[in-house]
Amino acid sequence: MPAATREERIEFRERNPKWKLPALRIEMAECINCDTCIRHCPDQFGAIFNHGIDVIIIPELCSGCGKCVPVCPVDCIYEDPIPASTPEDWWTEPLSPEDPYV
Ligand code: SF4
Ligand code: SF4
Repeated sequence: MPAATREERIEFRERNPKWKLPALRIEMAECINCDTCIRHCPDQFGAIFNHGIDVIIIPELCSGCGKCVPVCPVDCIYEDPIPASTPEDWWTEPLSPEDPYV
């Protein structure tokens, strides 16, 4: 079954088709880069990364579980029902030496 595990979602670059909730996104203009959300994203999803000066959510890895939302001090994490295509360079983060979830 494709995309059932985080490794498969990274390999195939697709969400688990069973996920019903929309992915979330970080409004970069509002984010203060405190990194709190990164630590609250469950390891089995592992969707939030430091990427250069930005903190990003890769929508293909985000289940929409919402655990990152209440911990954000500036409330800048929003639903992303129709995510824009994920920038190619964001995919350098999952499974890299800086991946916080491995
Ligand atoms: S909604 Fe859940 S899976 Fe998505 S980024 Fe937040 S904590 Fe991670
Ligand atoms: S918790 Fe909010 S302010 Fe902090 S890095 Fe995440 S999105 Fe940005």
